[in-house]
Amino acid sequence: MKSAEIIAVGSELLTPSRLDTNSLKITERLNAVGIQVRLKTVVGDDRATVANLVEAALTRSDLVVLTGGLGPTDDDVTRDAVSEALALPLEEDPRIVERIQQRFEERGLRMPEINRRQAMVPRGASVLENVNGTAPGLWIDCGDKAVVLFPGPPREMQPMLDLVVHERLAPRSGGAGVYRRVLRIAGRTESHAEERAQPIYSRWLAGATPIETTILAAPGQIELHLSVRTTSENEARARLEAAVTELEAAFGADVFSSDGRSLEEVVGGLLRARAWRIAVAESCTGGLVLSRLTDVPGSSDYVERGLVAYSNRAKTELLRVPDDLIVADGAVSEPVALAMAKGAASTAGVAIGVGVTGIAGPGGGSDRKPVGTVVVAVVGPEMQRVRTFRFPGERRQVKFQASQLALDTVRRLLLEDASRDG
Ligand code: AMP
Ligand code: MG
Repeated sequence: MKSAEIIAVGSELLTPSRLDTNSLKITERLNAVGIQVRLKTVVGDDRATVANLVEAALTRSDLVVLTGGLGPTDDDVTRDAVSEALALPLEEDPRIVERIQQRFEERGLRMPEINRRQAMVPRGASVLENVNGTAPGLWIDCGDKAVVLFPGPPREMQPMLDLVVHERLAPRSGGAGVYRRVLRIAGRTESHAEERAQPIYSRWLAGATPIETTILAAPGQIELHLSVRTTSENEARARLEAAVTELEAAFGADVFSSDGRSLEEVVGGLLRARAWRIAVAESCTGGLVLSRLTDVPGSSDYVERGLVAYSNRAKTELLRVPDDLIVADGAVSEPVALAMAKGAASTAGVAIGVGVTGIAGPGGGSDRKPVGTVVVAVVGPEMQRVRTFRFPGERRQVKFQASQLALDTVRRLLLEDASRDG
């Protein structure tokens, strides 16, 4: 089995209040045994639509996984829809009735008649026990393809999913797995990254074991996801390692991580390696930079302190930023950011000082300094760097991108310092 399709059934999943998270879990587990998910559908509790989807899915994919709609009430139609699509009549399974009755009796209750619906099984299906609820799951072989039904509640679905993967899918996979690496890039736009990576990607696709690639852009960060499907874990790791090396050569210092680490973890690692401590003075980010740095366990090894100097008065009182500098250049300016960074480092008595100032919006912008303007300064032993950027997006996005710029500037400065030494 190579390809799968997931159908998440539940009218609540089509409202703004519920998200289909089951399919993420299912995808993760299928990938681990070499099955790629080709398509996902979210559909309401509508019998005819679900039946049509199942029929169509079986023409495209080896495995069709449904979740949801196995409850005892009239609005749960997955069982009926599948029985219709596969033309398999539903028959009551007395063992399931007994098991459900038992579950109710254990709680001192009588089984409501409507729960009998959960004992209806398409002819020839295998029953998957539900250890956390009443609705059993179902596995139905269709020639060399299969349809599998899981209940919607995640804690009922997950043990069943594990069992199916372990007992039914892994043995058929021939040891195949999908292996992944993620490269994280800062300081480039999605189109720049794509332009540079595309020629490399197309060569990989032509290889004997093709590497599939996806580019994911978030504000302030681009991710390149590489995946390989093969039966040899060693081959996969070697293929991916070579690919990562090639991309790292193409992107240089813009790549900040190829091993799953976040930017704050990478910065922390560089600080720790130098035994340097950091102090951060933040205006527009309101403490976000320090919050991210301290998300990393063990950050007390290198984080000294953070100061949120939001007002001009705070900048002069806490960081000794000269008043006349703020008057002459404005609070959002390179001289003020630099003075904040120097003030942070000197008042804390540490090697690395960071200053972040900017206009997060929606108000406060001007022609010369529009909303989204952010200035970051980093100072260290015999080095300093100041960068001004203009970020798109609303307030929270600007704040996040500003924190990203601050962390990335620290990273680049530390890398350059390390390469000077080395
Ligand atoms: P069911 O009775 O099988 O339709 O499942 C209903 C419960 O499971 C509800 O609480 C749903 O919000 C939850 N649920 C159903 N489908 C999903 C899904 N795809 N992802 C996460 N939760 C789900
Ligand atoms: Mg439902």
